[in-house]
Amino acid sequence: MLETHWVGAHVSAAGGIANAPLNAQKIGANAFALFTKNQRRWQGAPLCPSQIEAFKANCEQANIPPDAILPHDSYLINLGHPDQAQLERSREAFLDEMQRCEQMGLTLLNFHPGSHLNKISIDECLARISESINLALDKTQGVSAIIENTAGQGSNLGHCFEQLAQIIDKVEDKSRVGVCIDTCHMFAAGYDLTTLEACEASFAQFDAIVGNHYLKAMHLNDSKTQLNSRVDRHHSLGAGYIGMDAFSYIMKHPATRQIPLILETIEPEIWPQEINWLRSQTR
Ligand SMILES: [Zn+2]
Ligand SMILES: [Zn+2]
Repeated sequence: MLETHWVGAHVSAAGGIANAPLNAQKIGANAFALFTKNQRRWQGAPLCPSQIEAFKANCEQANIPPDAILPHDSYLINLGHPDQAQLERSREAFLDEMQRCEQMGLTLLNFHPGSHLNKISIDECLARISESINLALDKTQGVSAIIENTAGQGSNLGHCFEQLAQIIDKVEDKSRVGVCIDTCHMFAAGYDLTTLEACEASFAQFDAIVGNHYLKAMHLNDSKTQLNSRVDRHHSLGAGYIGMDAFSYIMKHPATRQIPLILETIEPEIWPQEINWLRSQTR
């Protein structure tokens, strides 16, 4: 039977992708995020059939369905790159990431939208990102492109909901695009989450501008930096400027049922407690 809430963390896949579901199970998670290759390299070794089989078997044994798994792409990829050759390189790498998910039987790929590097306009960069998504969706099946909101550090786009909506607007297959909201990034980008009232207002804005039906995953992180800092520094739940109310609010929000809710908090030793606490807030 499927549980109502899928809570986990971004776990290590060291030693092979098949270890990720085992690492998730160890911390009491029924969801997880992973890198399917080294996130700081362009190329990864192709996945072999035995690795994929072991991965699937371990997910099944840990009782974690494919929809509760949120792979994250490489940090090198910039789908809105101003330079054509660099853009092509990113698009190739992104397609490879999508194909790895396809091979693993996964349905989501989480990525950061892209950066204009002060060389092209915001609109032009957002249009490139949409086109990059279209190209990857055209060549794959069954995997959705999940855009993560950013803190808006430097020239990173996707920090405001309007930009996420603008990217989605130009994606042709709307059934295979979605959003992953990172609470730390949201707060750093200027959306207040410090009280229940503030959460209600901020999430109402998301629903009005993007739409709750596009919410396909969340990253649950507190923030070491203040509201609207535009600086991305994660903290453990309750230890930063956001505080516990936001996470309690999120766990009760109807849009967070049966989507991966992933901790990227900074103390992996307390992930089991954080997961238990989040689950306790759903009731
Ligand atoms: Zn994140
Ligand atoms: Zn972050």
